[in-house]
Amino acid sequence: MTKYKNLTIVRTVAEFREHVNRWRRNGETVGFVPTMGFLHDGHMSLFQRSQEIADRTTASIFVNPKQFGPNEDYAVYPRSEERDAQLMDEDGVDLLFAPSVNEMYPDGGVTKVSVPGLGDILEGEYRPGFFNGVATVVTKLLLQAMPDVAIFGEKDYQQLMVIRRMVKDLDIPVRIEGAPTGREEDGLAMSSRNTYLTPEERKAAPVLYQTISAVADKFRQGERAPELIQWAKVELEKAGFKQLDYLEIRDSENLKPVYDASRPARVLAAAWLGKPRLIDNVEV
Ligand code: AMP
Repeated sequence: MTKYKNLTIVRTVAEFREHVNRWRRNGETVGFVPTMGFLHDGHMSLFQRSQEIADRTTASIFVNPKQFGPNEDYAVYPRSEERDAQLMDEDGVDLLFAPSVNEMYPDGGVTKVSVPGLGDILEGEYRPGFFNGVATVVTKLLLQAMPDVAIFGEKDYQQLMVIRRMVKDLDIPVRIEGAPTGREEDGLAMSSRNTYLTPEERKAAPVLYQTISAVADKFRQGERAPELIQWAKVELEKAGFKQLDYLEIRDSENLKPVYDASRPARVLAAAWLGKPRLIDNVEV
């Protein structure tokens, strides 16, 4: 078994809860970063954020079957627990919770948490059931550990909004922090799924970020959303994107459509580049 300098790995809810409880009883604050593993620098920035704001940093790796649709990539989602644990150890993560599916859902788990409205639009429309799966597993993880603060990436902006709403509605006593999107040098948002890109697709991929950034600039300068969305569609097609699921300018909090830049807004998009599907978003 690999020996780590700093990191302890636990696989049961009981052990996860015990470690966090002990720290909190001793007056230490605990940060928590849930992940599906196959770590990249975007994940590492969340661990660093946790270390800035909490005394202890915990993380989980769990590829949650309940958030994958029947035709999605659950079986082939990239996994690399040993490497991930090594990176967490070097990065100062104190505790990794890496449960089995059976540990998380011993009797299958029938209870669902859903956030209607916020969870049904944009990603929710194209990936039915996705946010139920996310909301359910995040609720479980937060209740299992009861950290002081949990950190989520703005890369998955709608997910962050769904989680904030769910934590508020259910009075889960955990603070939710958003952290900025980690990007490659050419602007592509880091993602575990970027490994699916062929070299040619990888070259075209940053056009998604470039396009939504341009839409954000033009919207700020007063151009209208319908024309901008039409323009973006053409740009993405020219770059080799096969299908645009959505590209929308939405209110930063409730994700409802906005018609001018008088309130904080966000450009959110999902598009297929051949087999892989990329999502990204930027602030207006
Ligand atoms: P995942 O492992 O993809 O489920 O992501 C786990 C957490 O890392 C989520 O809160 C994501 O929003 C966050 N995350 C994923 N990619 C990035 C990125 N490029 N920058 C910042 N956070 C990210």
